[in-house]
Amino acid sequence: MKKEVKLSFWDRLYLPAILVGMGITIKHFFKNLFTPPSKRYTVEFPERKKDVPEWYRGLHRLNTRDDGSVKCVACYCCATACPADAIFIEAEDIDDLDESYPREKRPKQFIIDLHRCIFCGFCQEACPEDAIVLTNEYEITQLSRDEGLITMEELIKTPKKKMD
Ligand code: SF4
Ligand code: SF4
Repeated sequence: MKKEVKLSFWDRLYLPAILVGMGITIKHFFKNLFTPPSKRYTVEFPERKKDVPEWYRGLHRLNTRDDGSVKCVACYCCATACPADAIFIEAEDIDDLDESYPREKRPKQFIIDLHRCIFCGFCQEACPEDAIVLTNEYEITQLSRDEGLITMEELIKTPKKKMD
């Protein structure tokens, strides 16, 4: 049953809450004014980029081998582990099998839907080939839903983590 919340006289005025909010804004304004740019709460994006912690989970990257081929062997472990159903893989057989690195399949299509992804990192943990990793790339806004479907070719080009 829905519990009724009783507002006090001051709650109903809303003025104290507005003043507290304004106080925080003014505090941050003066703190920004007298703090060096690197330590400020806000940065002038996109001219300045915010440093993100090492554990930050941003845009995915598909790693490649020395010969440029994608490391993914289309095993579907990442897609199975994904709780958001954000990974679509279409596998294809490999005819020109490399004896030094035997594998039967590779992805013909590998798409991540960023509008579904919750950046949990389960796909990275599930991958037996170290093929998919989450980088610290956070500039991933799109102008349409279609742009949120990141293809294999784009995932290969995602910059590596800064510490790599
Ligand atoms: S980070 Fe999580 S939600 Fe996003 S694709 Fe990987 S497993 Fe799915
Ligand atoms: S990225 Fe890794 S887990 Fe996903 S299909 Fe490829 S090899 Fe399997």
